[in-house]
Amino acid sequence: MQLVTSVGELAITLREQRHGAGSLGLVPTMGALHSGHRSLIEQSRSRDDVVAISIFVNPWQFNNPSDFTHYPRSLEVDLEMAEAAGVDVVFAPSLEEMYPGGEPVLWVDPGVLGSGLEGASRPGHFAGVATVVAKLFAIFAPTHAYFGEKDYEQLHLIRRLVLDLSFGAEIVACPTVREIDGLALSSRNARLSPEQRFSAPIIYQALLVGHQALESGATLESATAQMRMRIAGEPSCALVYAEIRDAATLEPPGLNSVALRLLIAATFGEVRLIDNLGFEVKPAKV
Ligand code: AMP
Repeated sequence: MQLVTSVGELAITLREQRHGAGSLGLVPTMGALHSGHRSLIEQSRSRDDVVAISIFVNPWQFNNPSDFTHYPRSLEVDLEMAEAAGVDVVFAPSLEEMYPGGEPVLWVDPGVLGSGLEGASRPGHFAGVATVVAKLFAIFAPTHAYFGEKDYEQLHLIRRLVLDLSFGAEIVACPTVREIDGLALSSRNARLSPEQRFSAPIIYQALLVGHQALESGATLESATAQMRMRIAGEPSCALVYAEIRDAATLEPPGLNSVALRLLIAATFGEVRLIDNLGFEVKPAKV
């Protein structure tokens, strides 16, 4: 496994490793790697000739400076995990290497996708994500890029980014990896106190409550209210949003929606967590 920190060196390394024509998988991460990241790496390992990951905590996608300062960083351990998972190339640039001019002047504008659920409560977040992912796609030109369903809105944004800006990468969506108690793995989980960690599976439980309600024929309003009530029952958890959207558009569901997505964001003290779950709409019996 090669660790590369500069864009110039990366181009040379990728050329050597790909022997001209091999497929290249990219797994963009912000480090503090866990089994969720590893599942993306394994997906890439199973289909790509060369597996690359990027580790870069992108300041421009943090709307909260304290969240950026306290975001977990563990490069040494990350490198061990990456090597064990079969990564060929790790790109871990400095802030200066990624943004030599400081804060970018030119940004990728996510348009309406920037102000949905996460975007509404984290202004500028998706402009930061779209800009850094566009840079990574320009730097790597991967054949495949792997993203987790855990960040469902982000996945939706990246699919549109590839379409609108004509990046060649095929986007591969990977299922959410969970702890045994249902909590979605996240680098931010490390910041939870033992008490908060104990309560955090409430998010997944609320998603299951909503899913169950839909399964038993509840209306969208009722299923949404049931998710919210479940979160309200946990005093250490503050709800940011609990919504049900069309899975394909992330718009409010309509009569033609065939798949829904239940999405929740909630905070435990300073730590903000998100999760989501899919629901297939059964065709009406005639
Ligand atoms: P991050 O380092 O949090 O920016 O995440 C890097 C990639 O890993 C993103 O595509 C995430 O959606 C994905 N990811 C994070 N947590 C999980 C998880 N629990 N299961 C699957 N993918 C995940």
